Amino acid sequence: MKHLLPPLKFNSKELEPFISERTIEFHYGKHHQAYVDNLNKLIIGSEFENATLEEIIKKASGGIFNNGAQVWNHTFYFDQFSSNPKKRPEGKLFEKIEQTFGAFETFIEKINEACLTLFGSGWGWLIIDNDNNLQIMQTSNAGNPLRDGFIPLLTIDVWEHAYYLDYQNRRAEYLKNIWNILDWNVIENRFNNITLKT
Ligand code: MN
Repeated sequence: MKHLLPPLKFNSKELEPFISERTIEFHYGKHHQAYVDNLNKLIIGSEFENATLEEIIKKASGGIFNNGAQVWNHTFYFDQFSSNPKKRPEGKLFEKIEQTFGAFETFIEKINEACLTLFGSGWGWLIIDNDNNLQIMQTSNAGNPLRDGFIPLLTIDVWEHAYYLDYQNRRAEYLKNIWNILDWNVIENRFNNITLKT
C-alpha cells in the first residue's frame, strides 16, 4: 500500500497570524511529506507492506512505527484547523468536557499545561479511554493513543518544528494561540462518529 500526503483543507497562508505560511510550508510540505516518503521506503518487503496506518501504529516498531505514526498524527493535526473555526464545542461533547473537567476553560488550561510540560518532542491529546471517559494524554516522539486502545479526539503537536519559526522557544504562546484556529466542528464530528465501547 502506497501512503499519500493528504491535501490540506486550507491554503498555506490562511492560518496566519497564528501559524505562518512558512511554518505550513515546512511542517506540512517538508516534515509531513518526509514521514510519508520514509514510510513508503521502509515498508517495502516488510510485513507492513500492505498494512493500514492504524495496523502499523498498533503493531510496528522502530522506523516503520515512527514514520507511520507521524503520518497519522500530522494528518489528524492539520485536519483540525480552519481560518473560520467553531471556537467552542456544543452538545454532547461540550457536556462531556464540562462534566469531566468542570468547565471548558479548565479543559483548555489543562491540555495546554500537559503540552507545555511534555519534555522534548511529542503530542498532547484529548482521548476517550476504555471506560468511555475523556482524558488528556501526553505521548513522546511519534506516540499515538491508538497503540493503547484509546480513541483520539484532538491533538496538539509540540515538536519544535510545529512552532519554532513563529514562536521560537515560546511554546506557551503557540499553545495559547492555537485555539484561535482549532475548529471544534471537526472534533465534534470525530466524537459523534465513534462507537463507544459498551
Ligand atoms: Mn510535526
